[in-house]
Amino acid sequence: MEIENCKLKISDPVTSIPLVGPSYTSKLKRLDIATVEDLLHHYPFRYDDFSQIRKINELIAGEMATVTATVLEVKNVHTRGGKRLIQTTVADETSELQVVWFNPYVIKNVKEENLINLSGSLAGWNNKPALISPAYEIVTAAPRQAKQSGNRSRQPLHTGRLVPIYPETRGVSSKWLRSRIAAALKILKILAPNNSSGVYTPELSDKFDFLPPSIKGSQNLIDLNKALRMIHFPNDRDEINKARRRLGFDELFLMQIKALKRRAEWQEKPLAHKFRMKNEDLPAGKAGLRIKEFINSLPFELTNAQKRAVDEILKDLAKNVPMNRLLEGDVGSGKTVVAAVALYATHLNGFQSALMVPTEVLAEQHYKEITKMLGPFGVKVGLRTGSKKGNSKKKETNAYSLVPSALVGTHALLFNSVKFKNLGLIVIDEQHRFGVKQRAKLLEKSVKTPHLLTMTATPIPRSLALTAYGDLDLSVLDEMPPDRKEVATWVVPNRKRKAAYNWVREQIKEGNRAFVICPLIEESEAETMQAVKAATVEFERLSKEVFPDLKLALLHGRIKSKEKNKILKDFKNGKYDILVSTQVVEVGIDIPTATIIIIEGAERFGLASLHQLRGRVGRSTRQSYCLLFTSSPGRRSYKRLKAMEETNDGFKLAKIDLKIRGPGEIYGVKQHGIEEFKIASLSDIRLIETTRNEATKILEKDPSLETYPNLKEKLERISEELVEPN
Ligand code: ADP
Ligand code: MG
Repeated sequence: MEIENCKLKISDPVTSIPLVGPSYTSKLKRLDIATVEDLLHHYPFRYDDFSQIRKINELIAGEMATVTATVLEVKNVHTRGGKRLIQTTVADETSELQVVWFNPYVIKNVKEENLINLSGSLAGWNNKPALISPAYEIVTAAPRQAKQSGNRSRQPLHTGRLVPIYPETRGVSSKWLRSRIAAALKILKILAPNNSSGVYTPELSDKFDFLPPSIKGSQNLIDLNKALRMIHFPNDRDEINKARRRLGFDELFLMQIKALKRRAEWQEKPLAHKFRMKNEDLPAGKAGLRIKEFINSLPFELTNAQKRAVDEILKDLAKNVPMNRLLEGDVGSGKTVVAAVALYATHLNGFQSALMVPTEVLAEQHYKEITKMLGPFGVKVGLRTGSKKGNSKKKETNAYSLVPSALVGTHALLFNSVKFKNLGLIVIDEQHRFGVKQRAKLLEKSVKTPHLLTMTATPIPRSLALTAYGDLDLSVLDEMPPDRKEVATWVVPNRKRKAAYNWVREQIKEGNRAFVICPLIEESEAETMQAVKAATVEFERLSKEVFPDLKLALLHGRIKSKEKNKILKDFKNGKYDILVSTQVVEVGIDIPTATIIIIEGAERFGLASLHQLRGRVGRSTRQSYCLLFTSSPGRRSYKRLKAMEETNDGFKLAKIDLKIRGPGEIYGVKQHGIEEFKIASLSDIRLIETTRNEATKILEKDPSLETYPNLKEKLERISEELVEPN
């Protein structure tokens, strides 16, 4: 199809681009490319610099350059080893040159009399100078061919310039991507269709730029069409930088707009049940007094951070709009008791509450804790988990709908059989373990919107959290309860492994218990068979060779949940000394007698992730230990692990991680639904703030974005793409 006659919208499927057949749909999907727009935003991750144009006699051995030459002869050679190679001779006005390709497919394209661009570095072949497997591009086809295909002079895409290299997948090469992106850009009139000079002319159209001109002006950003042309086909490095600045800004800006809009939408929801609490000077009034009484009944004093969080939550509960607050606090910072205050306040108002946690073990743990705390104050606490349904449970379920109570449970809370009479508050613990849909389903339990409190232990720095959860209000527990002993942490190199095992044995003889966490194999939470195997092998090794005298148990994600619970309970009750497990052991589990955690292959974990794992010990007044086993850490990862020895502060560690490894690596970032950006960095606090300010200004001026139709359309397109994280 002739590009000049082709029409294309950026929202069209990518197969609307000429020569992108239906067979590409599934291949491109692997690169998250479905539409023309997705393809245009599939950015190169680097560029080959083939921009040095030379004559043949100017080529220097080992130096990257491009020559334009005529093909004199093409030979198909069979080597003695049975391989085929294509041997050609090319020439320009200065000299002749050999060119060798090992890919026999080349012969289909490279014909005698072709004028051809060749990019590569000069080497030798059969004792003569040669280009070996250079990138090539036909400039002018041989006269015979040209007549047939109507080929004309073209701008070089693959040679003679900064050549973009893309993330590829099977059946989709950078060369293919380049040519199809160029085609799309031409149809959209962003690239001039034909221009033999080899330099791209200024962009022709800019119909879909969604960034308001005022922002482009004040932030000194180039137009979108320009940015797209420059990111794919830059004339120089400066253009790449300009393009990245614009496209990176877009990523953060769009995220901010989305978050602010979600926030506004939430605040427009009708509140399920209005709480009667005085807004000023909370806790106040009758309910307030009782809350004070409850807090005074606790065996400890709340930390200042907890007091602040309680205040913020009670203030929210007094409002006429549904609360949507995230309580963020390091492992052990005491989130449960803060949640308990909210549950109690709900009870005092005569409403029911639900507390959803990701696993059965955690549900039981919370159930016991909440019952202990709130039972004496007349709160009926219920437990609802998968294994607790069936037989006698019908009665229980009915009870929930009759008695104002707090219901603790797992996903089982989402079952249709669980009905609430007057759900006033939902609390979700370890919220990153739940999908958006599950959250929505729980909210549907009530016709109108109840107050919502989500909790997380992922220590994301405040600025980052404000962006990532820009639609939520944030309370941070940045202070640990006093008298908490720090977990002593050591990085253990291979040569000290044996001594460490002996030390562990001594500790176990004194009544302590240990976790052994097997090395991370993949950066995904879904457990691979490989990880299960690794844990099994380690379990065998430790049982037979290292601790034949001790009792060991094995735990991994492929073990059925019923059995998993039993193993954990048995471990808790002292049946085992050592629990060998993959990294997906329940977060937040409380096993006070476990005081040692050994992490194998520690260098493969992020600091935040190590810190989470470390949080599984140190849950009692006993001194706890974390041993980080590393086989062969490089200097950089050694330094990183040393930070674990130096601090027990999850937020500090997250900041260090953010600096060293970037946000994509931080534990849970993906699971939290925080977008992975192609260009922007979540550690760029200044840009995060700038984009937030700009987004706020735009929405204040025009909340419905009627005056920004392109932006509105863009947001509609990207929210359609929103997929379920789990
Ligand atoms: P997390 O934030 O990880 O969910 P928990 O709520 O499980 O932490 O609290 C960890 C432990 O600390 C619990 O045993 C809890 O009773 C205790 N705790 C909570 N707040 C305080 C406090 N202010 N002072 C002392 N201990 C506290
Ligand atoms: Mg917890």
